[in-house]
This record gives sequence, C-alpha cells and structure tokens, in this order.
Amino acid sequence: MNKYWSTMAKRTNPYIPGEQVNKKNIIKLNTNENPYAPSPKVLNAIQQAINSDLRLYPSPTVDEIKIAIAKHYNVRKENVFVGNGSDEVLAFSFMAFFEPNQQICFPEITYSFYSVYAKAFNIPYKKVPLQEDFSLQVESYFRSNGGVIFPNPNAPTSLYLALEQVEAILKNNRNKVVIVDEAYIDFASQSAISLVDKYENLLVIQTMSKSRSLAGLRIGFAIGNEALIRGLIRMKDSFNSYPIDRLAIAGAIAAIEDEAYFRKITKKIIATRTWTTDTLKQIGFHVLPSSTNFLFVAHPEVPAAFIYEQLRKKDILVRYFATEKIDNYLRITIGTEEEMIFFIDKLKNIIENYK
Ligand code: PMP
Repeated sequence: MNKYWSTMAKRTNPYIPGEQVNKKNIIKLNTNENPYAPSPKVLNAIQQAINSDLRLYPSPTVDEIKIAIAKHYNVRKENVFVGNGSDEVLAFSFMAFFEPNQQICFPEITYSFYSVYAKAFNIPYKKVPLQEDFSLQVESYFRSNGGVIFPNPNAPTSLYLALEQVEAILKNNRNKVVIVDEAYIDFASQSAISLVDKYENLLVIQTMSKSRSLAGLRIGFAIGNEALIRGLIRMKDSFNSYPIDRLAIAGAIAAIEDEAYFRKITKKIIATRTWTTDTLKQIGFHVLPSSTNFLFVAHPEVPAAFIYEQLRKKDILVRYFATEKIDNYLRITIGTEEEMIFFIDKLKNIIENYK
C-alpha cells in the first residue's frame, strides 16, 4: 500500500497470469496457448503492415476487422466490438454493463479475472457453486440482480454448457446483461452468437488467442446487440482511442479470413485432445470431458501438487491451482502430438514411481 494510491488502486487484487518462461526446450502446457504457428497469411499481412506507415495512428474504429468478423459470423458490423485481447473486452464490459450497487453472479470455479474486475470496479458479486460433476446449475443464474457472466466452455473445468441452457439463463435475465465468454468455443460445438438476434441482453466475447494462435497479437472481440456494442465503444473511447495497433489490425483480418487454416489446426488439436484423454484414462486419471484446448484431470492416488512439481523438474509446465475444491486437479493445455507423447511418457514415470 502507498499513500499516493487511489482507493481503486488500493482495492484491486491483480490477476496472476500463468508463468511465461524464456527457456528453450521447455514443454509449455500451462497457459492454453495454441502449439501451432498462426496462419502464414497472418505473418504475411503483418510483414506488409510493417512496410505501411507506422508513423500514423491506426484506425480508431477498426472497421476493417469488424467487417471481416461480421462476414465470418453472419452478423452486421454494428454488432461487433474489437479490443486488445478479450481481457480488455471483458474489462470494458464490466464498466459498461455492471453497477456498483447491484450484485452480479458467476460460477465459483471459473476464470479468475472476473473477480479481479469486479473488485477493481467496485461491483458486488456472488460466486455460484458448481454441481458435484463441475457443471453449472443454470437455475442459480436466473433473475440476477446485476447481471451474469460465465465462460462457455468453462475454464478451468473444460465443460461445455448446451445452448438451450444458455438460452434459459438469457430468458430469465431479460433486464440484465448476460456475458458469455467463449474464449474456447472453437474447440466445442455451437456458439451463442446464433442467439444475438433473439436476445438483446446477450454479449458473446471471443478471442483470437487460442484457436487462431494469436495470443501474442492481443485481439479479442464481442458480438451483441447494437446498443450493447455502442456501450462498449463509449468505454473504449473514454480509455484509449487506439487499443489495436496497425500490425494487429492486419494480422487479425488475415486470421479471420483464413478459414481453411483455422479448421485444419482446430481439428488437429481436437484429435490430440481425444488421444490424450484416452491415454490419461488408461493410466488411471479422472479426465473431465473437455470441449476446449485443455484437460482438467485428477489422479485418485497421486496428489496434483506432487505431479505438478515433478513435471516441472522435467521442464514440463502445467497449471496447478492451490484453490479449495480443485486443489487435486491439474489443467493441461493440449500441445502438439509429439509434445503430448513426451508428456505422457514422463507422467507415467511419475505415477509409477510414486511411493
Ligand atoms: N476468458 C477466458 C475464459 C480465458 O481463459 C482467457 C485466457 N486467459 C481469456 C478470456 C483472455 O484471453 P485473451 O485476453 O488472450 O483474449
């Protein structure tokens, strides 16, 4: 604490991201990045943008990205907002739609940035317990005082909530905004974007960090009713006129346009996910049915903290949360096929040599 800090700076409890290491030969399965490079067309577009005029500010409205996204999802440009990673889109959403005197709700076990934003912006919140099997108890989200936010699929559990259930939450919160954070939706089935026309209280947030291999470029976006999008633009223009730089604009457009590459990569990750799930089960792990690019797993005899430490010694990073109810689970990002074969080999060794 410091006497010069504002009450907001004092109150906030910053998010701690997964470790980023600069070591060669490390197998990095801890931050849900894509193991494959982005589309060559993205790199080409960024190269061209380097040769453009970096002396000039980028577009404040990023209409070109909005048009590309709108075309891809069959919505209008006015239904699209773009931010510096979906984390920024989430921050603007908390500012634009939630009130300091009305309690919002989100799952007890979920993306930990939600409580960080709520604390920073002074928004009261209720953490709704998950069911025994880690699924969402949808009725608990009905008639929220201040609004609802949840990821679908949820993180770190990897579980997908069927669209009819998402719709039930929307129907029972007509006067409040429901934010569906679809960071991992491209590894699942149906997006809630198809419901945007039907529910004016729905905001869907997605990212290019995972399925489009662009965590380093920082592009996230929201799709929703035009009035909600205007609310987000108001917040963006009260904060930073140019959150998306010229290189990111060029890369984002190319990424959304290269449909074939996107399909190829997500298909590959889903295939590796199936193989890894089956193999982990064979060596005794409990594996939740994942609809994401990561697995949430526990071993009945070997503690997660022990496995985490042992893997670390072998230069394999996974994510461990020392949090009540999930402190015997590990979150493992799906890497390349070779990385997962190597990982399983080391893991088997750890399990066999326990005690
Ligand atoms: N939502 C969820 C559920 C996430 O796991 C992440 C990744 N940490 C994000 C949003 C943010 O992703 P980004 O800012 O890279 O778009």
